Amino acid sequence: MRKPFIMGNWKMFKTTKEAVAFAEEFKKLYQSSDVVAGVCAPFTQLAALKDAFKGTDIKVGAQNMHFEENGAFTGEISADMLNELGIEYCVIGHSERRQYFNETDETVNKKLHTAFKHNIIPILCVGEVLEERDAGKEFDVVKTQTVGALKDLIAEQVSALIIAYEPVWAIGTGRTASPEQANEMCGYIRTVIEELYSDEVSEKVIIQYGGSVKPANASELMNMEEIDGALVGGASLVPADFIEIVNF
Ligand code: 13P
Repeated sequence: MRKPFIMGNWKMFKTTKEAVAFAEEFKKLYQSSDVVAGVCAPFTQLAALKDAFKGTDIKVGAQNMHFEENGAFTGEISADMLNELGIEYCVIGHSERRQYFNETDETVNKKLHTAFKHNIIPILCVGEVLEERDAGKEFDVVKTQTVGALKDLIAEQVSALIIAYEPVWAIGTGRTASPEQANEMCGYIRTVIEELYSDEVSEKVIIQYGGSVKPANASELMNMEEIDGALVGGASLVPADFIEIVNF
């Protein structure tokens, strides 16, 4: 019932020229299927990518947005600005933003409210750091992040949400969580949603895994019962690699 959802997260890579070159190459390789696929790109590449993917069902998302509607927030981008470009998705609360830009569960929660208000589907990132896993606290950490992020959201909103479980120790390290570890946590997040909302809502929410997803490990991860897709960093930068993951 849940369609696999595979999104690239380009982080701070690619100029507009490089993004358009990626899009042209990727379009040639891409075939529409039951898998929903797209890329979350830097702000300055969004308009060019929307244009390059016009007429296809390849999605384009942003990687961040501010929770305020507008105001004196130098360097920030609002949901209205993303709406104007027709952007349907936005990564919210990526661990790199939590680590380097002081994002907290509270700001993540505010961003989710603003995104839903503007019909932007958030890709909410949660995940523990290595010391937390080593201390056996990974479930507590992910639960706290999830509960904090979803505060005061209604069932209808959470039903449309995408959550990416990204253990920080697996991001960009080449050290993937095992399919069993990833599946276990994705299943756990679903039970947290069930407790907070209902079985029906928990069955609708899409839960991705992210962290060193590559062509070589994608199918094993994607075929796990609780894993509905992937948020792909490094391997989404190369069309030939990303298409292999999309076609897992
Ligand atoms: P990598 O796939 O490069 O490990 O990055 C994962 C990630 O952070 C996606 O958001």
